[in-house]
Amino acid sequence: ESNGHEKIDHVYKVVVIGDSAVGKTQILSRFAKNEFCLDSKSTIGVEFQTRTVTIKGKVIKAQIWDTAGQERYRAVTSAYYRGALGAMLVYDITKRQTFDHVARWVEELRAHADNSIVIMLIGNKADLVDLRAVPTEDALEFAEDQGLFFSETSALNGDNVDTAFFKILEEIYGVVS
Ligand code: GDP
Repeated sequence: ESNGHEKIDHVYKVVVIGDSAVGKTQILSRFAKNEFCLDSKSTIGVEFQTRTVTIKGKVIKAQIWDTAGQERYRAVTSAYYRGALGAMLVYDITKRQTFDHVARWVEELRAHADNSIVIMLIGNKADLVDLRAVPTEDALEFAEDQGLFFSETSALNGDNVDTAFFKILEEIYGVVS
């Protein structure tokens, strides 16, 4: 963890994408601040948050971008993807439609982001076990087929959120160095 004084070796931009209300903002604040905000969405205008971590002995500043609600208006622009080394593509395990749209988000990434971008598929709200509408196997199969990393997370209780971010940052490290 950063004490604010160490030298940063690399800055990695990671974008968080996916349908509205899947938990993108909450995943981000869980990772960046270890917080879950029960009454969020006052976040319009906040573009990114950072957290500094050590990966393989290097100090990495992860700069994680949030769409800040723009996805509602299909206004996620190429500026958002510019320079992104990683993408967290989030769906809600309790909303089948948000998983059905994942293929479109992958197309969007292939069209606008760098070819070498590392993509991680995230099934969020894994705490809502009784409401599950997307079997883990379906998502795993899709991820393997498309060459994506995959994890199920809960921004609410924090399960797997750090692990998923550390995984994507490690993979990025492997790609860029
Ligand atoms: P966004 O539109 O994708 O940024 O979604 P938000 O982060 O605003 O979350 C949408 C709603 O889902 C909010 O009511 C959150 O409190 C809730 N939510 C987000 N993550 C989780 C989670 O892991 N578990 C549960 N149970 N609810 C979540």
